[in-house]
Amino acid sequence: MGGLFGVVSRQDCPKTLFYGTDYHSHLGTENGGISVFGDQGFYNSIHSISQAQFKSRFVEDYKSMNGYQGIGAIDDESPQPLIVRSKFGTFAIAVTGLIINKEELTQKLMDEGASFSEMTGGGINTVEMVAKLINQGDSIVDGIVKMQDAIEGSICALIMTPEGVYAARDKYGRFPLSIGENGSYGERGFAVATEVSAFPNLGYHFVKHLGPGEITLLSLSGLKNLKAENTEKRVCAFLWIYTGDPSSVYEGITVENARERCGRAMARNDDVKADFVTGIPDSGVGHAIGYAIESGIPYRRPLVKYTPGYGRSYTPPSQDIRDLVATMKLSAIRGVIKDSRMIVCDDSIVRGTQLKNFTVKKLLDNGAREIHIRPACPPLMFPCSFASSTRSKSELASRRAIRAIEGADIENIEEYLDHRSDKYREMVEWIRRDLNVTSLKYLHIEDMIEAIGMAEDQLCLCCWRGR
Ligand code: SF4
Repeated sequence: MGGLFGVVSRQDCPKTLFYGTDYHSHLGTENGGISVFGDQGFYNSIHSISQAQFKSRFVEDYKSMNGYQGIGAIDDESPQPLIVRSKFGTFAIAVTGLIINKEELTQKLMDEGASFSEMTGGGINTVEMVAKLINQGDSIVDGIVKMQDAIEGSICALIMTPEGVYAARDKYGRFPLSIGENGSYGERGFAVATEVSAFPNLGYHFVKHLGPGEITLLSLSGLKNLKAENTEKRVCAFLWIYTGDPSSVYEGITVENARERCGRAMARNDDVKADFVTGIPDSGVGHAIGYAIESGIPYRRPLVKYTPGYGRSYTPPSQDIRDLVATMKLSAIRGVIKDSRMIVCDDSIVRGTQLKNFTVKKLLDNGAREIHIRPACPPLMFPCSFASSTRSKSELASRRAIRAIEGADIENIEEYLDHRSDKYREMVEWIRRDLNVTSLKYLHIEDMIEAIGMAEDQLCLCCWRGR
């Protein structure tokens, strides 16, 4: 989904920008970039991070930068930040999210005389598109509002001008943006981040979450609210289940606490006997701890992550790389696994292929007696339309099951969405057999919503309901 970090400071900021952006590395594996503004003007650095971590790519760059304002981004879709010369003067811009009606907007802007640089592969850089839409306004703020109105999808943006950093959250607040303040050493400064977990280690304390569509200017004069938040809200529920850092907080709800509540709910709905509970590192761990607390079954680690150097296996766009990461990153502990009955909590099942071919296989090869898989959300039924996502509908484990049951892809899957229906049970049983595990039981959507702790009509649940 990508992550953003921005800072304004009385001190030289590149080091803070470097670490603050790096704290978003779990949100993307393709592109990284930082941009600073200081007495010498704008300075930009963009690299591919598909073959190396953000830190190693940017460690020399940030040391050569000077400036008191900066923005950074991690993103799978578009290289950024971009430096743009416009009628508002020069600005740097970074965005996360997806524009669903990009083709239509591209055509409209080209009909009006705009031109776009093409990325490798022929696509239009989303950041350039957002910059062009903003330039259609009478001011930067008016332009951001016009951009928010024009796009279908979800765009969070940071725009850095000599005046400061404009932070704009997407219209429905699907993805987070929060503000922190640094009062240490009497040097007042502000930061804005997708993940509030970036703040404490950099000396910032949390000030506020931006609301849906809210626009705030961060500058050395303070925070200036330029547009109030919209009333309608649809925050991505998957943030709490999988995407977010465990130490992050969205809408005042701590990710780790929500994951523990998911695990507790799964335990309350379960009666399976096992020797221990475990979570697939990293995002399954919080769910499993909750399960262990509620059930009283001890937590153990049959699988450990070899090194934090291996990123998530679902984000790299190439299946080969996803498989390589999945093979290498988890080490099995035979002395824990052999002859054991285990409850294995995971955040979700996307395709199921990695779970089957790497995780379950490792457990079986090391003598597991029973494997009970417990995903902390219902079967994923739809790809995400609001952020770059590697899931395609046809690859999803649930869709493969439905195709096998029905003999073809079908449009109306309503029955499969209802966990009380026979069709749902048939689908889950097909996935269980495919995974080659003893049992499989998903968390129900009502329990997931309750565990997150937000009102249902304020959450985006499109992954599961398609609307
Ligand atoms: S579709 Fe899923 S991943 Fe995308 S914003 Fe909605 S809940 Fe989040």
